[in-house]
Amino acid sequence: MYRPYWRAGVCKWMRLKSETSAIQKLSEIREEYRERVSRGYEFRAKDCKACETPGACCLDAHFVNVRITRLEARAMRKVLDTFPPELKAKLEERIEETAEFVKADGKFACPLYERESGCLVHHEAKPIPCISHGCYERVGDLPPTSLQDGVEASVDLLNTLTYGKPQPRFPIPIALRRVT
Ligand code: SF4
Ligand code: SF4
Repeated sequence: MYRPYWRAGVCKWMRLKSETSAIQKLSEIREEYRERVSRGYEFRAKDCKACETPGACCLDAHFVNVRITRLEARAMRKVLDTFPPELKAKLEERIEETAEFVKADGKFACPLYERESGCLVHHEAKPIPCISHGCYERVGDLPPTSLQDGVEASVDLLNTLTYGKPQPRFPIPIALRRVT
């Protein structure tokens, strides 16, 4: 049974002072979850390398509904800041455009997906729901919702301890625009 990190390490977190150290902690939480999903569930999902529609899961505006917190958006921004100026400018434009067209139900085509390279924040800042996602044949093969909920609760608490109050979740392009 996965033990949410916030139960195990709350005293340590209470000492967190900087956003930088919180982003580091977020990275640890994310990698722990990625490992957990990889070991326990992902092998039952369709292999993305054999996908006939690669990226459909990130670009289908009827489907993508990933919401992230301020801290997750700041972690993404740190990754985007390392990109070459041309790519960064292209992404900024895409983020702006997508933020304008986020549907009323919060769905959007993710601006962080590049046809040639896939998810641009895959290694350093992939959101928790994106780590959970895969094409599974049976619903019972998916990582349980309670597992993801526990990790997201940890991320929420980390946000609170970093910014002094709970941070709402927004669709990715809007969250990124808010932390520009
Ligand atoms: S998650 Fe599914 S749709 Fe997305 S690339 Fe993998 S197999 Fe294709
Ligand atoms: S953050 Fe990455 S994995 Fe998640 S929807 Fe965007 S491109 Fe896809």
